[in-house]
Amino acid sequence: MQNVFVIDHPVVQTKLTELRDFSSDHRKFRALLDEIAMLMVYEVTRDWPTKPKPTQTPLEPMIGQVLARQVTLVPILRAGLGMADGVLRVLPDARLGHLGVYRDEKTLEPVSYYQKLPPDIAQTEVLLIDPMLATGGSGSAAITFLKKAGVVAMKFVCLVAAPEGIEALHRIHPEVPIYCAAVDRELNNKGYILPGLGDAGDRIFGT
Ligand code: URA
Repeated sequence: MQNVFVIDHPVVQTKLTELRDFSSDHRKFRALLDEIAMLMVYEVTRDWPTKPKPTQTPLEPMIGQVLARQVTLVPILRAGLGMADGVLRVLPDARLGHLGVYRDEKTLEPVSYYQKLPPDIAQTEVLLIDPMLATGGSGSAAITFLKKAGVVAMKFVCLVAAPEGIEALHRIHPEVPIYCAAVDRELNNKGYILPGLGDAGDRIFGT
C-alpha cells in the first residue's frame, strides 16, 4: 500500500493487543492509547526537516539541530483527543486545533460540527489524529477542511485502519501519508472495523 506506514514495533504491537482486549476498562484503555500515541510520534516525525541552531554546551559552542517548523496537532473530535496528550508529551511546543466531525449512524456520512484552528496553521507541520480510520469519511472531510485552510504539510495518524478507509481517503487525498499501528481485515455493515477494538470514543470516555 503506497503512502501507508504501519508502525509494527513490538512494544507498540504489545500495547495495541492489550488495548483491543474487551476487558480493558476506560482507565486502562486511555493509558494504553496515550502510550501508543507517544511511541508512534518517533516514526511519524522521522522525515521532518530540521534547521541548525547554535548552542553552547558546558564545554564549547556547537551547532545543534531543531525542528524546522512549528507543529500543530489536530485531533478529530472526540476520539482523536485520546491520542493528543501522548503526542504532546513528545512535542510539547505543538499547538492544538480541533475539528469536530461525527459519523451519521444511518448514512455513515461525516457531519462537521466544530472547527477551531491556529491562524497560521498553513505554515506548520500538521498531524491530524483519530484512532480509527474506518470508512475514511471523517478523515477525508477533515483533510479537505485543512487544505482549505492552506495546510500543505500534513500526516494522518491513527491507531487502526481498515483497508476500505485507506482506499477511500487515498482516493481523494493520495499525497497525505497515513500512519497506523495496524491495518485490520475489513469493515462490518455498521462501519466498525473488524477485528478492531470497538467504539474508540466510548472506550476512551467510558460512555
Ligand atoms: N470508529 C470506532 O470507534 N470504531 C470503529 O471500529 C470504527 C469507527
